[in-house]
Amino acid sequence: MRIVVQKFGGTSLGTAELRREAMQRVWEAVDQGFSPVVVVSAMGRQGDPYATDTLLELMREVNPQAQGANVDLLLSCGEIIAASLFAEGLRALGLAATALTGWQCGITTDDVPLGARVLRVHAERLWDVLRQGRIPVVAGFQGVTEQGVVTTLGRGGSDTTAAVLGVVLKAERVEIYTDVDGIKTADPRLVPDAPTLQVMSYREVMELAHMGAKVLHPRAAEIAMEEGIPMQVRAVQHSTGGTWIGHGVKARAAKGGEQVSDRVVTGIAHLGGRAQVKVGGAEDFHASGLAAKVFQVLAEAQVSVDLINLAVDSIVFVIDEAKVGPARQALDALGLDVQINTGFAKVSVVGAGMHGVPGVMARVVNCLTAENIPIYQTSDSHANISCLVLEEHTPRAVQALYREFHLDSI
Ligand code: ASP
Ligand code: MG
Repeated sequence: MRIVVQKFGGTSLGTAELRREAMQRVWEAVDQGFSPVVVVSAMGRQGDPYATDTLLELMREVNPQAQGANVDLLLSCGEIIAASLFAEGLRALGLAATALTGWQCGITTDDVPLGARVLRVHAERLWDVLRQGRIPVVAGFQGVTEQGVVTTLGRGGSDTTAAVLGVVLKAERVEIYTDVDGIKTADPRLVPDAPTLQVMSYREVMELAHMGAKVLHPRAAEIAMEEGIPMQVRAVQHSTGGTWIGHGVKARAAKGGEQVSDRVVTGIAHLGGRAQVKVGGAEDFHASGLAAKVFQVLAEAQVSVDLINLAVDSIVFVIDEAKVGPARQALDALGLDVQINTGFAKVSVVGAGMHGVPGVMARVVNCLTAENIPIYQTSDSHANISCLVLEEHTPRAVQALYREFHLDSI
């Protein structure tokens, strides 16, 4: 059986017209001799009746602090609605299809609410459906714990469902359908003519996604990478083009003269809604053991930290604005001098080939300085340089870096 996993995102299922396009993609796969396994997200975006954000809003009206299993259960409904309708739509076209929830599909997860990880998949039911010559249409973004509690996999988690099923079923590829025709060198809302990257390595995709690019969930690329299952990100309306992601891309790109792994900068990502935290009020954070305490209380308050700068007399880091309340509460208990400023964004240049190349940082700083964009903090890894800037400077920072690194002609 030649299996292809086809995942349709919320924006590619938002209207009846788009859903017809999506079903056309399934039809084509069948026509080419594949056994498709479909994964769907909740249909549409905020404001549409069954979109994840709409359901979340509904829950917040009942209880603004709502969290945990009740929220997971409600959110899981969006994908179940999409799967039921999609399966029936395929049947109306003459294709045998069966809608399955995450738990009917045997997806077992840990018990972290709103961000569970898949532990294993008992795929017998899925195989049964496939062997009957039917198309499974799986509700993405969800699973169940060993104890039978319904979980969701974190925002954007339907990509993860698709990647997991691709690995478990040893699919030839995983196709991710969305509203853009692939992964761009910069956010097309800020740089409208940013070109589509034709090939990328898993690492580059993961790095861009971790730094804020929304086009693919980073965990999905990570999972696909483990088994080397190729992925393709493409627009639902176009059956060609898109971005290929895989190990083999290096070889494929080499044919055209370009080594993917040599690209110093592949793309720019940005992530808004950041808050900068400055902790002072101790002469020596290390000797006093306060450095360890600061991070311990934040961990206990479930606050994740980023862009961490630890010095003897100060600690500076960045958190999600949504976590300012719990962070302040946790830190105030230590009696230190705590300043938290909101309204920041993290802008990152990403490229697997920047490691050991002199001058990338110089270009980043020069470029932002020339634009009069102050940098409040930076961090770097082998494959990215991130700068904290004011959120209102994000569009200009992205556009300037895009020009600096010639991302219009990659
Ligand atoms: N519907 C979920 C979300 O909006 C999962 C997904 O679309 O991948 O995050
Ligand atoms: Mg998505």
